[in-house]
Amino acid sequence: MRRLGLDASFAAPSFQKQAEHAICAICLDYLEDPQEVGCEARHVFCGPCIETVLQERKPCPSCRGHFSKTQRAPALLRNLIEEVQWKCLNFASNCAFTGTKKELEKHIDSECPEQETACPFEGSPVRFNAKAAHLRSCPKFPVPCPNQGCAMIIARAEVSHHVENACLEGMVTCTVSGCGSRMKRKLVDQHDDENMKKHFKLLHEKVVDMETNDNLELTVRFPNFEAISAGTQKRTLDSPPFVFQDMRFCLWLWPKGDLNSSVGQAALYMVKKDAYDRTLTFTVKPKNCGEVRQTFRRWASTAGGDNQTCVPLMCSSRLHERLRGGLWSST
Ligand SMILES: [Zn+2]
Ligand SMILES: [Zn+2]
Ligand SMILES: [Zn+2]
Ligand SMILES: [Zn+2]
Ligand SMILES: [Zn+2]
Ligand SMILES: [Zn+2]
Repeated sequence: MRRLGLDASFAAPSFQKQAEHAICAICLDYLEDPQEVGCEARHVFCGPCIETVLQERKPCPSCRGHFSKTQRAPALLRNLIEEVQWKCLNFASNCAFTGTKKELEKHIDSECPEQETACPFEGSPVRFNAKAAHLRSCPKFPVPCPNQGCAMIIARAEVSHHVENACLEGMVTCTVSGCGSRMKRKLVDQHDDENMKKHFKLLHEKVVDMETNDNLELTVRFPNFEAISAGTQKRTLDSPPFVFQDMRFCLWLWPKGDLNSSVGQAALYMVKKDAYDRTLTFTVKPKNCGEVRQTFRRWASTAGGDNQTCVPLMCSSRLHERLRGGLWSST
């Protein structure tokens, strides 16, 4: 039994009169399971409505007549009630449907374009005529994970979160910095197990790197730059020494190029002036000249020898251009 809140005003044209016989005088709604009471006029009410009256031994609600039992309304009357045609509950919104109560239920449940229904996934009201469109974009609509092999069904709005953070079939990059391996999320543990040594080494290097992280910004001036770069001879210019990580360095510059460089190219070296017992990797960024990464390898002083060692930084004609001012900023 379903209550639609029908009253005579919902009767389709030409059914107004008949509709009056289809309304229960107790609940003022469509007569459900019509039962005839034993009063003289044999009034008819919904089964559930009259049941309580009967149990409380009250008189007929319509005529105050006494009755002690009810019985199913005659088939003729039941047919009359069932055949009444009703307008759609949304007739005020211009739905032109008419039909029996049974047909109206079906219409409301599955056809009426004006009927509001709840989105089955969100519970929010949606009109029938907008439901299909809504479901195509409903954020809670369940969709399969796009990753092959993952059988998860997820709310549409959760897909990207699932893929990025949870999907076992999703590709992830090893979180150990420097490892760079890509694998499915479900294989991360296995990867970690298989790469313990490598990871440990990378993490250790990272720690060392962080401990010794240092930046030095300085301007290096080459004495006699103009004079020497104006000459034709390949000669070297030594910058004054500077200290970085407790060690002394300087720069060597061949404005006209060194033995290994081509004509018109300047060459620049970084020179380590002391003996050292560790590897030093550094990045040099000459002003406006890009950057160079170089490494001084562990190198012990030889007894009585020259402790200086150098690594090339740059050798280019562009460098020569940049050096015209003779002014350097190096970090
Ligand atoms: Zn009733
Ligand atoms: Zn009565
Ligand atoms: Zn309708
Ligand atoms: Zn929805
Ligand atoms: Zn997935
Ligand atoms: Zn890794």
